[in-house]
Amino acid sequence: MPDFIYDFHTHSDESDGVLSPATLMQAAHKRGVDTIALTDHDTISGLSEARKTAELLGMNLIDGVEISATWKGQTIHVVGLVVQPEVEVLQSGLQQNLRAREQRAYQINERLCSVGIEAMDWAGQGIGIPTRTHFARHLMAAGHAKDIPQAFKRYLAKGKPGWVGVEWLTLADAVQIIVKAGGVAVIAHPFRYKFTRTRLCALVEDFKSAGGCGIEVVSGNTNTNQLRDMVAISEQYGLLASKGSDFHDPAQVWAPLGGGPEVPENCVPIWTHWQAA
Ligand code: AMP
Ligand code: MN
Ligand code: MN
Ligand code: MN
Repeated sequence: MPDFIYDFHTHSDESDGVLSPATLMQAAHKRGVDTIALTDHDTISGLSEARKTAELLGMNLIDGVEISATWKGQTIHVVGLVVQPEVEVLQSGLQQNLRAREQRAYQINERLCSVGIEAMDWAGQGIGIPTRTHFARHLMAAGHAKDIPQAFKRYLAKGKPGWVGVEWLTLADAVQIIVKAGGVAVIAHPFRYKFTRTRLCALVEDFKSAGGCGIEVVSGNTNTNQLRDMVAISEQYGLLASKGSDFHDPAQVWAPLGGGPEVPENCVPIWTHWQAA
């Protein structure tokens, strides 16, 4: 059991979180978190602000990112930890995903307009990384959904009126830009994909071949069965175990910063990767 509290998956308002990078660090500090990774969707733009505050508070900030990737036609999220933000291949890969996001945002607006919903002026609102969460908030504000999950269920999920598929970076490219930036690639929230065991194993095999070496054994409020399954996968494939809340908003009380069950002792923790470096 580590003698520190950590969280290796969090979002700020540089992507779809609600707190600024500085405020996020303060919120984590209040909860007793010593080591935190900021892992915004497809951007590293919040890291310098987060670092300033983390240093003032005496916290250890891990430079991170959560990259959207396409694997066999499905979206997979790959968390990169201890990345070097200045590395060109990382920046250009993220640019590619950002362009895909911008194009999709225009298309989502078109699709929502066709069912009588006003467009979201995301660029005018200063949103740099347009995500579906921003569209969900827009739908709520306009009275079309009572909360974010309902906005997804009614409009933004696959097959709904505002759904637009995206070709993200390939899984192999997403993993490789993390590795080339000196980082360690981690499969984010493995349960979220609702894969069969066979498909999850196929993902893990492709991920490992691409150079990935970690998996989130604990993501948010992972239950006992999920934890047991992920520990088994991490042991079977020799993956390092990570843990992150996937924090977006203090109102999501079920996924607090630094929360979730402990990673079991028999797992090899993700930080052995950078401590060994
Ligand atoms: P995007 O990468 O723009 O497609 O947006 C994905 C983000 O939307 C995820 O990181 C979540 O924060 C959020 N999200 C996706 N599905 C749901 C859902 N069913 N309920 C609430 N938030 C969701
Ligand atoms: Mn998100
Ligand atoms: Mn994710
Ligand atoms: Mn996330």
